[in-house]
Amino acid sequence: MALPRKLLQAIKPQASRFFPQPAEMLKGKRVIVTGASTGIGEQIAYHLARMGSHLLITARTEAQLQQVVAQCLELGAASARYINGSMEDMKFAQAVVKKAEELWGSLDMLILNHIGKSYFNYFDWDIRHVQKLMDINFLSYVTMTISALPMLKNSGGSIVVVSSMAGKIGFPFTVTYSATKFALHGFFSSLRQEFVMQNTNVSITLCILGLINTESAMKAVSGRFTSPPAPKEECALEIIKGGALRQREVYYRYMDTKIFTVLRDWAPEFIDYLIRKNYNMDNLKQD
Ligand code: NDP
Repeated sequence: MALPRKLLQAIKPQASRFFPQPAEMLKGKRVIVTGASTGIGEQIAYHLARMGSHLLITARTEAQLQQVVAQCLELGAASARYINGSMEDMKFAQAVVKKAEELWGSLDMLILNHIGKSYFNYFDWDIRHVQKLMDINFLSYVTMTISALPMLKNSGGSIVVVSSMAGKIGFPFTVTYSATKFALHGFFSSLRQEFVMQNTNVSITLCILGLINTESAMKAVSGRFTSPPAPKEECALEIIKGGALRQREVYYRYMDTKIFTVLRDWAPEFIDYLIRKNYNMDNLKQD
């Protein structure tokens, strides 16, 4: 993994260098953020609020969403509303987009970020869990995209899909989660191609994240995965920047994620070995 630092810097996209005024670019823009009651989604909402965007946030827990909305208004959001429900239900996924249409009549950015609860352990062979997680983590993303497309086409807007290294490389103990993320990459990468061929002016940004210090992730991997996490606040900002700049992919943190992804097809056994080295099997056996 010891590529020279200068080479790494040279191939890293210099997004921040070309990002003139993030606050200006997103000021007054109408944005849906899913999974915004906690973690990265919550931080995305706060950044957008500081930039003066109109926000519609969603998750299941109403009390938590109310707090995030109040905080967004305090931080300077042009407006902030929420709608609560479960993305297990595709009617709810459609209702979120409908709500945006009722509120604004238009949409500039759709940030798809929510995930259903899973486990961090050996695959448990429960097909119902696989189906449920595919619904929440994948099908609801597709459903919302279909519903939002007419508005996004009108505004020349953006779709931002929050994914993971586990959507690019097989990681142990996240078998089902990983399957849902790979599905997102297949769907949205293919769709991006068709958008180009059809001159559809809607950008698609896939965000490939390493371990981030959200409460749920830290709890899940505690004592079992030894790689250090990156901060959720900075991660959220990189996701917004990538979407605003209409980048095809965002890697965060870049050094930890891009290099693994590049080497994945050149040295797959080596990359698999390096990944397994980050797992603490002793702690796993205590479950
Ligand atoms: P969190 O667990 O902190 O947040 C998940 C969000 O989804 C919450 O707002 C939660 O709210 C909501 N949610 C959960 N279940 C449902 C449901 N059935 N219907 C609707 N909303 C639901 O996750 P993170 O912030 O850690 O992760 C955010 C994104 O980043 C995900 O896409 C994840 O895959 C990705 N990522 C995260 C990494 C990390 O280390 N944190 C690493 C790589 C990628 P509520 O429970 O109230 O519904």
